[in-house]
Amino acid sequence: MFENEYVECVLPAQKSIALIAHDNKKKDMVDWCMQNKKILEHHFLCGTGTTAKLVSDKTGLPVRGYNSGPLGGDQQIGARIVDNKIDLVIFFSDPLQAQPHDPDVKALLRIAQVYDIPIANNRSTADFIITSPYMDAEYSRKLINFRHNVDMRVKEM
Ligand code: PGA
Repeated sequence: MFENEYVECVLPAQKSIALIAHDNKKKDMVDWCMQNKKILEHHFLCGTGTTAKLVSDKTGLPVRGYNSGPLGGDQQIGARIVDNKIDLVIFFSDPLQAQPHDPDVKALLRIAQVYDIPIANNRSTADFIITSPYMDAEYSRKLINFRHNVDMRVKEM
C-alpha cells in the first residue's frame, strides 16, 4: 500500500441524511420518520422531491427537496455524496415493481458503496442504523484518495 493511496474521511456527529422512498414504500417512510422523529430532528434531512415533501408535510420535520426521483433526484443525491455532503441514505426501494429510473437507482447504490456511506434499503436496516451509537458520534472511514488515483493513472498513460 502506498502512502496517500487512501484518505481518512469523517462522517460528522450531526449528519446529512437523504430520504428516498418508491411510491409503494412512501407510507412506510412517513411512518418510520414519525417513529424516529426525536432522533431525526437533530440531523439535516433532504430527499427526492415527493418523498421530501410528504415527510415534511406529515411529520413537520424540515426536509430539503431535490427533484423527484424519476426526474433526476437520485442522481442529485449521488452527486452530493461525491461532494461529501451526504452522510447517510435511507432508501426504501420497492423490490416488487420495475422503476423507469432503475439505472439511476443502481448508480446511487453504487456511489454510496464507493464512498462507504451507510445506506438502508429496508426498514429493519434503517432501524439498525438509526439506533447505532454512530448516529450521534463521528465515524471515520478510509476512502480511496481519488486525486492521488488520478495522478497515478495520468502518470501511467
Ligand atoms: P420521489 O422519488 O420521492 O420524487 O417519488 C423517489 C424515487 O422514485 O426515486
